[in-house]
Amino acid sequence: MAGLFGGIEAGGTKFVCAVGTGPEDIRQQTRFPTTSPDETLNRALDFFREARQHGELAGLGIVSFGPVDPDPASPHFGFITTTPKPGWAHTDFAPRFQRSLGVTVGFDTDVNGAALGEARWGAARGLQTFLYLTIGTGIGGGGLAGGQLLHGLLHPEMGHIRVPHDRNEDPFPGSCPFHGDCLEGLASGPAIEQRWGRAARELPADHAAWELEAKYLGLALSNFVCTLSPQRIILGGGVMEQTQLFPMIRHQIRQLLNGYIQSPVLQDQIDQFVVPPELGNRAGVLGAIALAQQAVAAGN
Ligand code: ADP
Ligand code: ZN
Repeated sequence: MAGLFGGIEAGGTKFVCAVGTGPEDIRQQTRFPTTSPDETLNRALDFFREARQHGELAGLGIVSFGPVDPDPASPHFGFITTTPKPGWAHTDFAPRFQRSLGVTVGFDTDVNGAALGEARWGAARGLQTFLYLTIGTGIGGGGLAGGQLLHGLLHPEMGHIRVPHDRNEDPFPGSCPFHGDCLEGLASGPAIEQRWGRAARELPADHAAWELEAKYLGLALSNFVCTLSPQRIILGGGVMEQTQLFPMIRHQIRQLLNGYIQSPVLQDQIDQFVVPPELGNRAGVLGAIALAQQAVAAGN
């Protein structure tokens, strides 16, 4: 597609902004910490104004931490909605960029963004139905079903599902402010740290923490396999830098499904079923660029 596109990956701790057309053609990129909405959004706006030296933008994609309103028919389309992040609830985000830059703006969740990046240029090329989950400060999931980004009532919140929690084996009550021991409350980076009293990255690879982590993630993923029938599940986020988790999670899924789902992918190709992102930590911002291209192609 002709023209230059902008992308914003808006995270709870940092923003990444880029201008280009794809992974091999990023003309300018920046990252800065997420502070107040005004300061952070103005900094992003200044970046795109300055980036006009490379040419006019044909469109902008924004993928954001949430919850967000991704429904184009809603009066609050493009807003961050009820986030507990101080100062950010009910932030006018995409409409503000549309007004200030005068370009078509695509808007979605951070995880749908990363999923779209992986679909276009990464580990999900050619797949119609797959999931992307991040296991980091929080747990979130997005993806495509039948070639379309997952939306509905709002958007999926796969990190907040309930998984069996044996309090004898694991007395940790869970860290989610809304649900206590939902998946995020049991298996996010901060949950691991609170349970074991040490930063997750400092726990050795053979620590009991990882067996428990693989168990919770295996339970969640086997539920997602039964619900959505994904062709692949991509796992990103800081916690998945513990790469020993991948074979452990694959093993859990096979045990939990117990041969019921008859696909060779779950038997001898399971190594290609649960995988890390091919685009690494660039999946989000590249997905934002892909979203901008999609929005322009759709004539939004
Ligand atoms: P965010 O979720 O804020 O976008 P990350 O995906 O990097 O950022 O997740 C940060 C979380 O991941 C932190 O809670 C941290 O404990 C955890 N984490 C980061 N690096 C590692 C690592 N090497 N091993 C285990 N956990 C990690
Ligand atoms: Zn929760």
